[in-house]
This record gives sequence, structure tokens and C-alpha cells, in this order.
Amino acid sequence: MKILKFGGTSVGSPERMKRLLDIIRPQEKQIVVLSAVAGTTNSLVEIANAYQNSDKQKAKELIKALHAKYEVFIKELFSSDEGLASGRELIDYHFALISDFANELFTPIEEKIILAQGELLSTTLYHFYLKEIGVKSVLLPALDFMKIDEDNEPMVEYIGEHLQPLLDKHADNTLFITQGYICRNSFGEIDNLRRGGSDYTASLIGAAIKAEEVQIWTDIDGMHNNDPRIVKGTTPIAQLSFDEAAELAYFGAKILHPQSVFPAQKYKIPVRLLNTMEPAAAGTLITNESEKGKIKSIAAKDGITAIKIQSSRMLLAYGFLRRVFEIFERYKTPIDLITTSEVAVSLTIDETRYLDDIIRELKDFGTVEVDDNQTIICVVGDFSVGVHGFASRVLDALKHIPLRMVSYGGSNHNISLLVKTDDKTEALRSLHNRLF
Ligand code: ASP
Ligand code: MG
Repeated sequence: MKILKFGGTSVGSPERMKRLLDIIRPQEKQIVVLSAVAGTTNSLVEIANAYQNSDKQKAKELIKALHAKYEVFIKELFSSDEGLASGRELIDYHFALISDFANELFTPIEEKIILAQGELLSTTLYHFYLKEIGVKSVLLPALDFMKIDEDNEPMVEYIGEHLQPLLDKHADNTLFITQGYICRNSFGEIDNLRRGGSDYTASLIGAAIKAEEVQIWTDIDGMHNNDPRIVKGTTPIAQLSFDEAAELAYFGAKILHPQSVFPAQKYKIPVRLLNTMEPAAAGTLITNESEKGKIKSIAAKDGITAIKIQSSRMLLAYGFLRRVFEIFERYKTPIDLITTSEVAVSLTIDETRYLDDIIRELKDFGTVEVDDNQTIICVVGDFSVGVHGFASRVLDALKHIPLRMVSYGGSNHNISLLVKTDDKTEALRSLHNRLF
């Protein structure tokens, strides 16, 4: 069994939806995971916000506009009166459901129900379309098997135990379709895997039923070795290890939901990143293998704030870092990079909601310096012990750029550097020229 996930743009228009059959071979065993039609989840978020703000008029207008878009969508998708009627009944049902929340108390529970409608719509429309053209498919309700626990962690075993019987029940079928992103939480309520979570769904399903392969279909031919928007002549990376892919997914490369790497890694399911617009291109294969002696890719993440805490109390003290980190923990602010010396520690964050409180508390330790508008540049490849020369090439490429932090040795597969965002473009280009 293979898992094929198609993102919002791959089902973004009736034409694109129809062209999925260039890629999906209905006679092969597979589960197709679909995102909502591009733009839909954003619109649903706006509708939920309007309800949240008790702006029923605005909610009504937004719903009307989205409903009208789907009306156009189904007219192009279906060619028979029967098909069109099935599509219309479906969209009318979902938009009536969304409209009904105007009469209810609006809580995060209702919000999540609204956010779930996009994937429910896209998958059912596709299932109806296949039916209209005579292609057999089974629609699997993700809400019957996708589950997260009380810590919002997906329950892989549970997913397998509940999905496998559904597959067995339709053992003579080959093409299964299900919703990305949506799930149930520990209370049994409708919930989701956070924005962009359809990749995560695909990987979780792959892990849960020990699939042969997970394919993530987007509109770029795999992960590139640098940011194609900034650097000319980037190329797709043929192969990455799960660790390298997780690193790159977190930094810059928006092509893969960072968490989606972990279930596939744990259960050793290969993940392929492929391009809907160019199905024959090789894309990127992610496996347990890491290629020795190679630099794979350069990525960057903007919007970083660096904090330096300088304290003579740190000298020869123990427990100092713990007390520093506890402050960040209390404010639920993740730390990305850390570098330390004997009397100072620098670290970076990308979530600044509680920055003022954090700084106020850090000042108890000593002097605190804060720099915003920073960018983490991450070079991924084989930086394991025993490999030499790569770090010096990286630093040499950046010799004309002021470096705020350098983090090396934290893992075997990357070196991260902090530069001013103003210097990012030059840093990426210079590294590209020097390393590839
Ligand atoms: N539809 C959801 C979103 O827009 C999930 C996804 O597309 O992966 O975030
Ligand atoms: Mg996505």
C-alpha cells in the first residue's frame, strides 16, 4: 500500500482535481490523502474569527462568498446533471452546517468543526467526481481513525488499529481517499493537526499501516539545495535522511510539515516529495540513509530574535542554564539555537509574544542584549566527527558577513549560523557558490 498526499493547490481547481488521475493509478493499492482546496482553510479561519468576534454579519458574508466559489467549482467539476446534483447537495449541506453556528455559543470546539469542513468537502467532491466518471473509490472518514491524545500527540497504534479494519472491509478495492489535517482529540471532539497538517496525516497513516511508501505531491520538484526564490540555479536534492529533512523542513523549506518526518522515521517508511506539475521528475527521497561526506542543502529562517545573557554568576556555577531555560519554559517559548561561553549564553527564539516578560526576568541574572531581525542560516549535510574541511568552507564563504552566532556539533548533520536578515541574500548566494 502506498500513501499519496496532494496539497491544496493540487486540488485547487476542478481542472487540477481532474488531472490527479495522471498520477493516481486507480488499480494500484493506495490511500489518497487530500488537503482542502487552496484558500479554503484560510477562509474558514476568517469565518471562525468573525463568529469569535460575534460579527455574525461578516461571518454570513464570508460564508456566502466561499459557498459561491464552490458553486462555480462543482459546475466545472461535474459534467452530468446527476453528478452536479450530488455536488450541490454536498456543498449546501456543509455551508448550512457552517451557517448554523450563528445560533450557537462559539467556542474552540465549534471553531475546529468549521476548520474541518475544507477537507471534508475536497475529499467527498473528489470521490463523487470519480464515481461520475466510473472510477471506483472508497471514502474513508479520517474522523473514524485519526486520533490525538491529551498532549495533542498522534496515536499511531490507535490509528492503525482503527484504519486497518476499514481497509480490510473493502479488501477488493484499491483506491481509498481520506481527509488530511483533521482528527479527533482525547475527548472525541473534532480537532486538527495544525495548519499544513495534511502531510502529517499522510506520514501517520503510512506509519500506522506500515505502508510501502509515502508520497507528498506539491508543486515543486522536491526539496532544493537552496532557496529558489533567492538563489539562481538551485537543484532538487535526490536523497535526504530523515534527520536532514526534519532540519530543512523546520528551516525555510515550506514544502514539508516539519513534524511529518517523525512517524515515517520511526517506522522506517520512505517519504518521497514529488511535483504534480512534473510527475516524471525524481523529486526528493527521504530515508534512513545519510550520504557520507556530502553537503546537501542550505536553508534560512527569518524572524529570529537573539538574546544574550551575560553574567559573572555563570562562572563555575552549576544550575545556571537550567534557571535561564526555566524562564523560557514558563513562557512556553521554544529556543532554537544556543551558544555559550564561560560567562555568557546566547540563544534565539522565533516566538516573541512574551519577550518583554522574559527579558525582565532574565535581567535578574545580569545584562541582557536583544537583537531582532535576525536570520538563521542552516547548512545541512555530513558534519559528523571525523569529517573535516566543511565547517571551514562554510565560514570562509561567509568571511565578509558579520556572524552573530555559530552553532556546530549539536548534531552530526548541520551547522547553523545567525546573521542579520539584511545579510541573508548575500550569505545564501555566497554559500551556494562556495559549497555547490
Ligand atoms: N488545509 C489545511 C491547511 O491549509 C491542512 C493542509 O493543507 O495541509 O493548513
Ligand atoms: Mg502543505
